[in-house]
Amino acid sequence: MIQEQLQCVEEKIRCACDRSGRSREEVTLIAVSKTKPIEDLKEAYAHGARCFGENKVQEITEKYPQMPKDVKWHMIGHLQRNKIKYIIDKVALIHSVDSLRLAEAIQAEAAKHQVIMPILIEVNVAEEESKFGLSVEETLPLIEQVSTMENLRVQGLMTIAPYVDDPEENRWVFQRLRKLSVDISRKNINNVNMCVLSMGMTGDYEVAIEEGATMVRVGTGIFGERNYQL
Ligand SMILES: *Cc1c(COP(=O)(O)O)cnc(C)c1O
Repeated sequence: MIQEQLQCVEEKIRCACDRSGRSREEVTLIAVSKTKPIEDLKEAYAHGARCFGENKVQEITEKYPQMPKDVKWHMIGHLQRNKIKYIIDKVALIHSVDSLRLAEAIQAEAAKHQVIMPILIEVNVAEEESKFGLSVEETLPLIEQVSTMENLRVQGLMTIAPYVDDPEENRWVFQRLRKLSVDISRKNINNVNMCVLSMGMTGDYEVAIEEGATMVRVGTGIFGERNYQL
């Protein structure tokens, strides 16, 4: 089943790229494997998935040694400062940096491990109460502060769009994040690169690609519904 779902997502990504005159290579598919057993990840890997997204530190540390070394792990969930040390040498990208305190703590761990940590700044574009992330207005000031931290590299922005029935309702969210990204990139801030736009999930990744997403985070669409009771 995972094979078919993955092929279906792949096909839809391809079509969205075609529709918007983009090349398939511009979009990275992140298979969001949170709550899923390692067998499911291995199946997705066997059918070509190389980037996996998790939102819990413990799941990354458990799954990491059980998967091939060429897997790229993406931390997409809210990160607690005291847990950074467990994943600093395991993840390729942290998508969810939303405060100066968190950035400082990641900088400290990265320095300790002598690594350069690529990060994204999470923006709560729709200003939903229930979600983490900075407001659009807070984003540039935080990026300016983070740009001076030696072991961090801002690579772009991430957003989680609202849960909606019709993905068209989220088009403005993706347009807004893209515009913010362009505005910030025009500032030419040292050490800051705005090449990544992490936006779009199972319900709306095609619209997100049409609006410029370079990373889409798809869970349910690949692995099926999650069962949080397990
Ligand atoms: C769970 C999750 C996803 C994937 O959600 P689906 O709707 O299952 O595709 C994407 N991004 C983040 C940050 C998530 O927590």
